[in-house]
Amino acid sequence: MGDHRIRDIRVHSVSVPAKAVHSHGSGDVAGIRSVLLEIVTDTGITGWGEASPWPVFTGTAEGNAAALHVHMRPHLQGQDPVQVEALLNTVGKVIVGHNEAKAALESALLDITGQISGLSVAELVGGRQRTEMPLSFSVANADFEKDLDDIAALHDDGVRLFKLKTGFDGHAFDLMRLEKLREIYGDGISLRIDYNQGLPAFDAQRRIRDLEAFAPAFIEQPVKMHERAALAEITRATDTPIMADESVFDPREALLGAQMRIADIFALKIMKSGGIRRALEVAAIARAAGIEVYGGCMFETGIAHAAGAHLMAAVPDLLLGCEFYMSTYYLQKDILAEPFPVSGGKVQVPTTPGLGVTVDRDKLAKYRLDLFE
Ligand code: MG
Repeated sequence: MGDHRIRDIRVHSVSVPAKAVHSHGSGDVAGIRSVLLEIVTDTGITGWGEASPWPVFTGTAEGNAAALHVHMRPHLQGQDPVQVEALLNTVGKVIVGHNEAKAALESALLDITGQISGLSVAELVGGRQRTEMPLSFSVANADFEKDLDDIAALHDDGVRLFKLKTGFDGHAFDLMRLEKLREIYGDGISLRIDYNQGLPAFDAQRRIRDLEAFAPAFIEQPVKMHERAALAEITRATDTPIMADESVFDPREALLGAQMRIADIFALKIMKSGGIRRALEVAAIARAAGIEVYGGCMFETGIAHAAGAHLMAAVPDLLLGCEFYMSTYYLQKDILAEPFPVSGGKVQVPTTPGLGVTVDRDKLAKYRLDLFE
């Protein structure tokens, strides 16, 4: 495989506009502010990663850009990019948190390692268990009429999994939307509900019971991330599976979540865990505890989608599908040269060596706010 050393580390801070404002229990989002990491070896191989923070959930783009540019860079330059775990360990000792930056670093290193070895990232982390995965779209428009049009178009595209963002405009609005969707589509779609921590714990169970009439596949993160006892109570009291998202970031929180039995499902996201390998550790803890996993995404471009798709291709079992819809259905334009592969309502797992995506330099220049190199 020869000797390859990390030569250049470029941190591109980008802002990519979305087609619509999305509303959540934790606020509105009008586009993507993320940090793209480009690592180039002395042998001319380029690897890409993305840190996609959401300030109300994980961290900030500014903080993650500084984590990569200021704190991690001195420990990476001149190093062997194939030594992924060793490099993650090293940066883990110089900066706590900033899991999005760590996910970006791991992605760029695995992208390079894949190109050197001829293997895709999924193969590098254990192999592809599946070549495609059902895509779930998050319904999050404050204007529900607009949402209905979007859902109809997505349904025509073959999408059958829809996650309704709730808890941002009142209980009656949530019930009305669920009733309308069941009226139009019957059992022909799988409905999921995500509160994004939007319910007050004292009154969560009663509201969740009302929603169960519409047969959701699961209900996600009804209460605040630290309200784990309340979440465990809700999980015990509710027939519908409950999913923990904000309450389970990394393997340590997964262990705590499994011990407290806070949920029936954990949402895996590379931005929460700090990369694919740590997310697989979360998945292993979940599996040992009889907890299902699900493939979530943050506000991200096709680069992070690709890393997430490789992760979800590698988990042993996947019954509930995955997200990775931003690139196709949320952004005005993605940053990739070729569209992130989605067809017939399914995410296609990239098969070419490494991440399997190419960045369009013109689009990168157009959406870039800052470059640190
Ligand atoms: Mg969520």
